[in-house]
Amino acid sequence: MISDSHLHTSFSTDSDAEPEAVIEAAIRAGMTNLCITDHYDPDYPTGEFMIDPASYWEEMSRLREKYRGTIDVRIGIEIGLLPDHHDPILEIAESEPFDYVIGSVHVMDGLDPYYRDQFRGTDAEMYRRYFEVMLEDLRRTDGYQALGHLDYVVRYGYEKDREYSYERFQDVIDPILREIVDRKIALEVNTAGLTKGMAWPNPHPDVIRRYLELGGTMITLGSDAHDAGVGAEFDRVLPMLRELGVEEITEFYGKKPVPVKLDR
Ligand SMILES: [Zn+2]
Ligand SMILES: [Zn+2]
Repeated sequence: MISDSHLHTSFSTDSDAEPEAVIEAAIRAGMTNLCITDHYDPDYPTGEFMIDPASYWEEMSRLREKYRGTIDVRIGIEIGLLPDHHDPILEIAESEPFDYVIGSVHVMDGLDPYYRDQFRGTDAEMYRRYFEVMLEDLRRTDGYQALGHLDYVVRYGYEKDREYSYERFQDVIDPILREIVDRKIALEVNTAGLTKGMAWPNPHPDVIRRYLELGGTMITLGSDAHDAGVGAEFDRVLPMLRELGVEEITEFYGKKPVPVKLDR
């Protein structure tokens, strides 16, 4: 079973999942490793989503030892990208020897699109602004190995993907994809789009196809489960990735990419 590289536990403000329950769920799913990636969002508007990286590291290291020989517990972190935060992001990313750092955009212009009503504008306007902010964040920050849930914003539109397609936003999505291909930052495929009732993961398959066309070779996979839903929807997303021509998934260990063949 391909490993789940995007998981939250009760160290994240929005999760009640005990870390051990998450690890046990991965064992039940037949995984040989998993990567826990709790939130660290500097300057999140309400001040939530902060962890003390040292105590997080300590607890996860304890669990890594406890489960050694049964499952390889990798320790990652999901950092919220914000413009002008290059230094704090790098500082956190390097504060402990994390296996994997995901850079994700959760906030644009001080708003989290999760609270849809706060953004006054059409869905399409919100999506465009999110991609513009993402590109700016990407260009100003460093220290992460993958870009998380590229079109996450579409989950929160009033009408989801009615005003969304890759073609419609190609002018803002292509520069994002070029940036990550050039900098060898992996593209994360996040199955939470599917678990939240959409017909596709984040990003949309057309975006994944474009990433491959532009020469991208590193795709990471995560459920973004905030409970014990480890590996959720992998059975739907893996055939879709094979159809797009993806032959391997990239996992990270010690921040180094480890390719894993898809047909195993
Ligand atoms: Zn996220
Ligand atoms: Zn997440």
